[in-house]
Amino acid sequence: AKGEGRNRYCFFEPEMGTKIHARRTLELELRKAVEMGDLELYYQPQVESGSRQIAGFEALIRWHHKERGDIPPEEFISVAEDSGLITEIGRWVLEQACLEAMSWPDSIQVAVNVSPVQFRSAKALLSDVRSALLLSGLPAHRLELEITEGILMQDTAANLELLDSLRRMGVHIAMDDFGTGYSSLGYIRRFCFDRIKIDRSFINDVTTSKDSQAVVQAVCGLCSTLGIQTVAEGVENEQQLQFLFDEGCSLIQGYYIARPMAVADLQRLIVDWTAA
Ligand code: C2E
Ligand code: CA
Ligand code: CA
Ligand code: CA
Repeated sequence: AKGEGRNRYCFFEPEMGTKIHARRTLELELRKAVEMGDLELYYQPQVESGSRQIAGFEALIRWHHKERGDIPPEEFISVAEDSGLITEIGRWVLEQACLEAMSWPDSIQVAVNVSPVQFRSAKALLSDVRSALLLSGLPAHRLELEITEGILMQDTAANLELLDSLRRMGVHIAMDDFGTGYSSLGYIRRFCFDRIKIDRSFINDVTTSKDSQAVVQAVCGLCSTLGIQTVAEGVENEQQLQFLFDEGCSLIQGYYIARPMAVADLQRLIVDWTAA
């Protein structure tokens, strides 16, 4: 088994070299972007499916690159994770999101994505969450952490303990992208989540696919029995929203309501929405 690792490098091809080089370049640029403050948080509203009142905003990171324009998180988060930069970025995201949420009405939550890499360093994550709350003055119950189900696959005892410590601090926990991993509905019961976010892929064809309808019905049904809120992500039209509302899905997030937006636009939205 020892030799295997070495053998892998025999299959190293020139195009892989280019890829590795590109990632390395991206990493160096990302490091600079962190220092220069070229990262920004956008926010996308989550509204109640019935009243359409704003319940919260999800913070989504944006990188404005001087030459290449905006680089989507899908392209740089994994680079940040592999290089360890995610710790610093994640800390900044937590702080920034909590600070910005302080200028919203008290009834509005902020949801922050937590990388599995951050989740694996329990102590660091706990202290980062604690200091973001202290620094901003945001009450813990207005902060929600979104974690993906993949996190919970290994190390169950340690994960349960970390989730527990976070909940004792008073922050809320949402399971992101539910349905894309290996977790069954049993997971929902085992780890006491406050919210389950049904993955966009199911919402996408919920009006046409019987399978997706079955998943959405099962998740919404079980969650309402357990008193857990459900969030549908990627809602793009009225028909999807209607289906979700009929199934008892609590919250709606997606382009149909609003795209992720910069802070200035968000303040305007809050004023319009709450005045309406
Ligand atoms: P995610 O957490 O699943 O976030 C939802 C993604 O769906 C966002 O993409 C959002 O812009 C997009 N979206 C929302 N509504 C719709 C819709 O109606 N239709 C479609 N087609 N898409 C919609 P975004 O902002 O590009 O982020 C992609 C992923 O990057 C996120 O997926 C999340 O996994 C990661 N990410 C973003 N910000 C952060 C962050 O601060 N920290 C970490 N660790 N990951 C982040
Ligand atoms: Ca998310
Ligand atoms: Ca998601
Ligand atoms: Ca996703």
